Amino acid sequence: MPSAMDLTVINVGYRSTNYWVIGAGRSRLLFDLGGPGTMGMLRAQWRRMGVPLEEIRCGLASHYHIDHAGLAQELKSAGVRLLVFETQLPAIPSMKAFTKPQDRYTEIDTSDIDPLPFTESRAILREIGIAGEILPTPGHSADSVSLLLDDGSAFTGDLPPEEFAEAGDPGLVRAGWRVLRGKGARRVYPAHGPVRPI
Ligand SMILES: [Zn+2]
Repeated sequence: MPSAMDLTVINVGYRSTNYWVIGAGRSRLLFDLGGPGTMGMLRAQWRRMGVPLEEIRCGLASHYHIDHAGLAQELKSAGVRLLVFETQLPAIPSMKAFTKPQDRYTEIDTSDIDPLPFTESRAILREIGIAGEILPTPGHSADSVSLLLDDGSAFTGDLPPEEFAEAGDPGLVRAGWRVLRGKGARRVYPAHGPVRPI
């Protein structure tokens, strides 16, 4: 079992959104799942960065807004296991309402999705060689989650920084950061903008 320190983190983002590939050797997790109709761009980024698609074992959306989960169905069809947590499933159907036909969004088939309890996240991550957990951090949206690695790296999606808590539900945003800090978060990997210390 590799330690958290052996994990590599690669940003395969495009169109001003970060998509993170977090890996232990040849077993990797994709955090945030591309924009709709951009499978070609994502594949090009993986090629450029030397990440083979078959090494992406699982995909996790920070939340089901279109620029964070737009390729979920295409990835699923390509064999990536989609991790959907219990607060996330209800958010999936409304994604379609925020797309236009020219976005070429492929609707997510939820019929075979078993939502996962947060209490199992550590065990699920361990299976792919990642030491960490997935936590509910609503505030930007009810279904927002963060991935916190045991080395202190926190992947927070669109959770607003504390000083801009009013951009979301301020109480929930502050509570989210409190939980992340309390569990040892030290560096933030946001969905937009550079990595920053907490
Ligand atoms: Zn969002």
